Amino acid sequence: MFCPKCGSMLIPKQGKVECSCGYKKDEAGDFKIKQELEEKEEVQLIDKEVEIRPLDKDAECPECGHKGALYRTQQTRASDEPETKFYECEKCHHRWRDYS
Ligand SMILES: [Zn+2]
Ligand SMILES: [Zn+2]
Repeated sequence: MFCPKCGSMLIPKQGKVECSCGYKKDEAGDFKIKQELEEKEEVQLIDKEVEIRPLDKDAECPECGHKGALYRTQQTRASDEPETKFYECEKCHHRWRDYS
């Protein structure tokens, strides 16, 4: 059995494998690390989706007066009502909503 990190031979001691380069292995521990990585990747994907928002150059921030805000729209449950726009100021990241 060889170390996957540095390639030197590993000698198991009391059910655990430890290498002089710092690599450690026990079956359960390895599995746990993999799971944590997968969960982190999922969170990053969700963050990216949220980031894709169009820019409304005419929207004026009520907080700092800056013109230009990112927005997303959300349809309310009643279909005859206008959709709600959620704005976020480009400059100060203040958030507000607008009924068009
Ligand atoms: Zn090693
Ligand atoms: Zn602002």
